Amino acid sequence: MSKDGSVSPMMSQYLEIKKEHEGALLFYRMGDFYEMFFDDAVAASEALGIALTKRGRTKGGDIPMCGVPVHSASGYLNQLIKKGFRVAVCEQTEDPAETRKRGSTAVVAREVVRVITPGTLTEDTLLDARHHNHLAAVSIVRDDSALAWVDISSGALSVIPCPMVKLGPQVARTAPTELLVSESNLDRLEKMLPEIEASLTPLAPVIFDSSAAERKLNELFGVFALDGFGSFGRAEVSALGAIVAYLELTQKGKLPGLRPPVREQVADTLQIDAATRRNLEISKDFSGGRENSLITAIDQTLTAGGARLMEGRISAPSTSLTEIAARHDAIGHFVSATETRDAVRNLLRGLPDIERALSRLCLERGGPRDAAAVSEGLVLADAIRERQMSEDLPSALKADNDHSTELDGLKQRLQAAIEKNPPLSIRDGNYIRDGFDSELDESRRLRDQARSVVAELQAEYIGETGIQPLKMKFNNVLGYFVEVPTGHSSKLLAQPFSQTFIHRQTTANAVRFTTNRLSELESRILGAGARADEIEKRIFEDMRARIAGAATAISSVASWLAEVDLSAAFAELAATRDWCRPEMNDLGALEISGGRHPVVEQALARANGPPFIANDCVLDGPSGAGPRVQLLTGPNMSGKSTYLRQNALIALLAQSGSFVPAASARIGIASQLFSRVGAADELARGRSTFMVEMVETAAILNQADSGALVILDEIGRGTATYDGLSLAWATLEHLHDVNRCRALFATHYHELAMLSERLEKLVNANVAVREWENDVIFLHEVRPGAADRSYGVQVAKLAGIPASVVARAREILDRLESNELGGSSRTANLLDELPLFSSDTGMERELGPTESETEKRLKAVNPDDLTPREALALIYELAAAIECGSGGRKPP
Ligand code: ATP
Repeated sequence: MSKDGSVSPMMSQYLEIKKEHEGALLFYRMGDFYEMFFDDAVAASEALGIALTKRGRTKGGDIPMCGVPVHSASGYLNQLIKKGFRVAVCEQTEDPAETRKRGSTAVVAREVVRVITPGTLTEDTLLDARHHNHLAAVSIVRDDSALAWVDISSGALSVIPCPMVKLGPQVARTAPTELLVSESNLDRLEKMLPEIEASLTPLAPVIFDSSAAERKLNELFGVFALDGFGSFGRAEVSALGAIVAYLELTQKGKLPGLRPPVREQVADTLQIDAATRRNLEISKDFSGGRENSLITAIDQTLTAGGARLMEGRISAPSTSLTEIAARHDAIGHFVSATETRDAVRNLLRGLPDIERALSRLCLERGGPRDAAAVSEGLVLADAIRERQMSEDLPSALKADNDHSTELDGLKQRLQAAIEKNPPLSIRDGNYIRDGFDSELDESRRLRDQARSVVAELQAEYIGETGIQPLKMKFNNVLGYFVEVPTGHSSKLLAQPFSQTFIHRQTTANAVRFTTNRLSELESRILGAGARADEIEKRIFEDMRARIAGAATAISSVASWLAEVDLSAAFAELAATRDWCRPEMNDLGALEISGGRHPVVEQALARANGPPFIANDCVLDGPSGAGPRVQLLTGPNMSGKSTYLRQNALIALLAQSGSFVPAASARIGIASQLFSRVGAADELARGRSTFMVEMVETAAILNQADSGALVILDEIGRGTATYDGLSLAWATLEHLHDVNRCRALFATHYHELAMLSERLEKLVNANVAVREWENDVIFLHEVRPGAADRSYGVQVAKLAGIPASVVARAREILDRLESNELGGSSRTANLLDELPLFSSDTGMERELGPTESETEKRLKAVNPDDLTPREALALIYELAAAIECGSGGRKPP
């Protein structure tokens, strides 16, 4: 901040470091604060709502500055990451005392220790414990493409080779918070993945170089070639390599305990694109929250690991009969073994998040509480294993005992070493148990003894000087000192006490002194305290290294515990909500009897509403002789959408490995699940309701294969009647003849029901209602055959549409229904027959309320002249007129 505009040595260090981290806000450590300067300060102060100040000047003028205290930094980091910033954390890497030795102008050495980005978070405060936080990378190498993803908070690394057209569903399935792409593919991917919610991080193409990636991966996993983990294509290696390189870059060389990559195939999981996920409200509901989503409605897991496993399973249901059967077996075990289930679930309630604690420890940012979490987790795992002991334990619940000896030793050591409820950070000290290390005990004894000697010295000085309020105190600047109120200080400043008490500081109300004995004691205390801290840190580092060394074994215990939690949770759901084990096969049919919608049923029960009405659904497979496509008609509000979705969700749940809300179910494995329900504008993305509907329908018609299960609701509603009907008609034919998949198709176009005469595999069904006194009662029962009509007008009445509008609509409907289909002439005729406005003013309603028979009739009577009986008769008369549909209007 000199006059010539050059900057101070510290600012020059800042600028140097900032140059290396242009894309991130630089949190520059200064004592107890992280400071930000220049544009970073302006952006951060705005984003965080904190004061913008200044520090010194440069050529351009004042240097803007803002800062956040280190102890509360995580809250600020959270806000910044949520707002899309990345933050480079720059720490002081030497003791300021060392710096001073280098001269008065020397600057404390600083270094960026980590760049925090949405996909690389590890802190509990920045993460949602029950949800994965995936960092993903897409790589395109010539015609091949692949997606790799990792949850660095658990170290699970996966990759899938995937044709470009299928990238969308795969990215939607992993729902990454951050997606790495090569700068050279950015435009292409942005167009290809319009639905993506992740923050896109473009990286230099060299990061995706597959040869360098292969070397890096071999080195990381200590192998000569990756073949032992699977045969990876170039695009896969490149995507995996990009993830590892990015982690090295952001974690400054430290890597989380990455597990060897698991290779998946597109065919291994049920393909569900982003639109289908949204429409079925799988992990988020229509409002964007989680409250009314499928996952929230069925989540009975008790641990964060179990919740994350459930999210993973529901997001990527399996297509493997063996895998699904193993998961169903595990649930079946807990459904029948009620006592074991309760006991195991009770133990699980106390389980800490081992996976995330482990990953922090591997990244060298874990503290004593993380070590305690691993230790407690391992102890609880033993208790659960013991409680589950059974000859016929299903394979999914069998613990992997390969590492038990290794873990036994570690567990004992951790238990002996780490205090119960230790502090979060090693800075806080006192986390190693007394009795674990004799050297530590000795240093602590000295430190504590010296402290009591200080207390004794205080009593001695009070006795000698007669100053009762004399106190021994400590602060970071003066160390230990004697403090007396100002009124007593003259006594110590004068002979004979001035020989012993050396003046150090005068404050507003007190005067502070030191003595030779106190200084001596202080060095003993500080020496012993520092020694104790040092030993504690050394022991912790040893524990941390041992834990990191056993990361694979600990991870496998954590995965097993998550599996146990999830199986017991699904069993709890099945037992308490009467779900059944579905019978799975690869024959392609879908036979559900007594099926229910898991979310609607729960919502009705919670609101003490009417019971949910169960319904059957039978669709034959592509080679079966029975109907494959069901056309569902029925009134508004009767439950068509609910029925469609419940069948899709039942198939999804079954393949995820859960039991299902039905009396019984036989489910032929589906390869793809498509859903197009409801309609919403996506104006922000430049799409109208109709456009959204057509884009989603196009995706289904273009992609559904014979193994798909498709639900289509109200196709063609967002346009003119005939366009809509024609589109729905053609879509239905295409599904039937070309896609040849199982489909449920709900529509208000009753005309489509005729198609069942021509389309061999199409069957009609309707949702029944009953009419009672001109009102409609919803039975929510799906029955064979087409619906007779829509009852839209009655439903509108229930919605509170004014009676006059309802009556008028009914009248128009009668007219429309009594006409033959006759193209535009029909509307023209109707307009002649039902004119809405008088021709001369164009404003006054010919049949407006002022001219109604009801009003005329009312005008003709004087209420004061009517007897109560006559008044009542008049009301009956008027009500009858309205009831008969004219609303008291003149017949047109
Ligand atoms: P619209 O044609 O107007 O879109 P819809 O026929 O698709 O209506 P849904 O939205 O599925 O009707 O259902 C309307 C409401 O009816 C649901 O919110 C739910 O409360 C209730 N409902 C639907 N199905 C059932 C059922 N099987 N048992 C009990 N209540 C049901």
